[in-house]
Amino acid sequence: MSARIIDGKAIAEKVRGEVKEGVSAFQSTHGRVPGLDVILVGEHAPSVVYTRNKEKAALEVGIRGRLHRMPEATTQAELLAMVAALSADESVDGILIQLPLPKHIDERTVLLAIPPEKDVDGFHPINVGRLSTGQDALVPCTPLGSLRLLDEAGVNLKGANAIVIGRSNIVGKPMAQLLLSRDATVTIAHSRTSNLAGLCATMDVVIAAVGRAEMVKADWIKPGAAVIDVGINRIELADGKSRLVGDVAFAECKEVAGAITPVPGGVGPMTIAILLQNTLMAAKARARVSA
Ligand code: NDP
Repeated sequence: MSARIIDGKAIAEKVRGEVKEGVSAFQSTHGRVPGLDVILVGEHAPSVVYTRNKEKAALEVGIRGRLHRMPEATTQAELLAMVAALSADESVDGILIQLPLPKHIDERTVLLAIPPEKDVDGFHPINVGRLSTGQDALVPCTPLGSLRLLDEAGVNLKGANAIVIGRSNIVGKPMAQLLLSRDATVTIAHSRTSNLAGLCATMDVVIAAVGRAEMVKADWIKPGAAVIDVGINRIELADGKSRLVGDVAFAECKEVAGAITPVPGGVGPMTIAILLQNTLMAAKARARVSA
């Protein structure tokens, strides 16, 4: 039987609608709209597109989106000064520094400078710690979006055996924490995991966040399992064109899984939608503190 396809585009649209309503309610109560400030250093082509998309998406739901473009030669001190200015600005609820940064800037130092309450990417160690100790936190957008997809697909996580393939700080580890917080029994796999295929085949929920085109095959999937494909890989085709595929061999896995996300149109659209949700959440939390 063919799996239910989890429509990330439609679910992201639903999240944006919720945020839009929330922004309007926030404005009625507080007399201002939430503010999201995105900093881009340099000309990294995909980052230019991502940051423009973030600014545009913010404006579409009524958030004041602002993109700050800084030249490639920006020094760490200049970037820190920009972060300090936005941190002190009461109209700014979310600060996002687009990664990767140029090599001469230390990513950790700069990310640490963002106040945790404005850290809408959820990368600050305070937010990482809050998530792992079960406290309210700003959570990285991609894993939080993946969790929402599981919820929308009606996947029961309580007591489920879940595997997260990939242990990065921005996807794998927070994803595992989120699943744990929902009472799944979680395995985190990585490049040194032995018998990954066999292990995976025992799991009710599979999250693939690796960055290897179509690595997860049909015989890795337990019949009826829920499969979330975070991977984005561009592959070259014989005719010289290219296309995007995930970490999961979608065509064969959908014949075994119970529910599965496609690439594109699965996790991808959720990331920006959740960034907007995080910005609204940060604005509400800041308003509560200053009330
Ligand atoms: P990283 O490169 O930071 O991490 C990849 C992880 O995969 C590592 O933990 C690595 O293990 C593990 N891995 C690599 N090879 C294997 C293997 N053969 N078997 C098992 N595990 C392996 O990537 P990210 O977490 O940043 O991203 C993962 C994917 O998700 C990428 O394709 C990325 O483009 C995509 N992505 C998509 C987003 C979206 O919006 N949809 C947002 C963010 C990422 P080890 O630690 O041992 O090296």
